[in-house]
Amino acid sequence: MSQAVQAPVQPRVYSRDQHPISRAAISDNALKVLYRLRDAGFRSCLVGGGVRDLLLGREPKDFDVATDAHPEDVRRLFRNCRLIGRRFRLAHVTFGREIIEVATFRAPFGAENEEGNIELSEDGRILRDNSYGTIEQDAWRRDFTINALYYDIANYSVLDFTNGVIDLHEGVLRLIGDDPEQRLREDPVRMLRAVRFGAKLGLRIAPEVDQALHRFAGLLTSVAPARLFDEVIKLFHSGAAVTCLDELERFGLFEAMFPQAAECFADPETGPAQRDFLVEALKNTDARIRDGMGVHPAFLYAAILWAPVRREAGARLDAGEEPVAAWQQAGSMVLERQVQRVSIPKRYSLVVREIWELQQRLPRNQGGRALKLLGHPRFRAGYDFLCLRARAGEADPELCAWWTEFQDSDAARQQQRPAAGAPDTATRPRRGRSRRRPRAVS
Ligand code: ATP
Ligand code: MG
Repeated sequence: MSQAVQAPVQPRVYSRDQHPISRAAISDNALKVLYRLRDAGFRSCLVGGGVRDLLLGREPKDFDVATDAHPEDVRRLFRNCRLIGRRFRLAHVTFGREIIEVATFRAPFGAENEEGNIELSEDGRILRDNSYGTIEQDAWRRDFTINALYYDIANYSVLDFTNGVIDLHEGVLRLIGDDPEQRLREDPVRMLRAVRFGAKLGLRIAPEVDQALHRFAGLLTSVAPARLFDEVIKLFHSGAAVTCLDELERFGLFEAMFPQAAECFADPETGPAQRDFLVEALKNTDARIRDGMGVHPAFLYAAILWAPVRREAGARLDAGEEPVAAWQQAGSMVLERQVQRVSIPKRYSLVVREIWELQQRLPRNQGGRALKLLGHPRFRAGYDFLCLRARAGEADPELCAWWTEFQDSDAARQQQRPAAGAPDTATRPRRGRSRRRPRAVS
């Protein structure tokens, strides 16, 4: 039986003294947008993650605004505004690096729609949705109850049409409406959002949503691979990547997106160790996010697809292929199959291949080779990857230790100096300058 909440006739209104959201916690730019819309006579509210995270006492990643102004109105009000999206037409108001996303209230599905602005696919997916409506209607079109809370700049109150505040207090992630299956069919990406918010915010997925996720995981294969690329990055760069992996697997979502890796992990003999390596990589990603360090999408994809590449290369080596060609071909094959489900832009897949290629080159560290490798534009990523493999028991820990030490050696420092201003530029080691020959590790 569905546990979903029914529509309250009126929203619950939490006045300024009944909620903890202070304007000091909202970015100046978001406030600027909210006030200017209000002063021009429009309704304007903060919505989505901004309200949710502030109510949870967390720092929002970004601020989204919902309004009854149409995108063209927003463009007229802000010089620094760009209209984007075909599927959902939105206004982006940019202030330096900060973008405030402004969306017009949307009408419900199936509502009278003279302009024919909603388009559905045969299996019920929303293809286009530019039909505007009221704030109440807009709330019911959102994904989760906790994401449908509005902070109204007119009187600083929080409006709750879907019992999101109660769910937030109880730590429950619930799809809006009484038919979770329909909501997932409309947009299967909501399944990935469920996993991400559940993991990142430590929420329990409501039982009826949990069941629907199990049933509909396969629908993910109908989502455009390019859209999934962004969602995968958001999942694994959420700071809770290890939990996300567990949850994606539990629902069959990982398999839907990464069938090659899932197949490798399912092998009772070799699978657990290969999965351990990915977990090691994700723990490292989580730690880097926690410490405010950079994370690269290519590193993530290199890690997820490492098991399939090893399997493919192994088969080719067994068939007598020459090693360099075997690994290169294996990389091409695995990436080619992968992009049919989740796309990987060329600028990233090239780096993925370089990281893999370095795994073959880093063990060959005798003589001048080590210095040359140090100048490789992806040396650092390749070395980090090698050390993760070592930690997962898949590569020689001494090799990792050797490279760690070598980077600190006089020879390496000398070689690194000219490249200091241009870390991504390979420099040629100067012959005869190194004071100590690197020791080979077999
Ligand atoms: P965060 O920005 O922290 O990732 P968010 O909830 O703000 O979380 P956004 O992707 O910025 O997520 O979307 C803003 C809001 O738009 C959401 O809170 C939700 O109300 C609505 N929304 C986003 N994606 C969907 C979707 N696929 N289906 C329905 N509503 C959505
Ligand atoms: Mg947001």
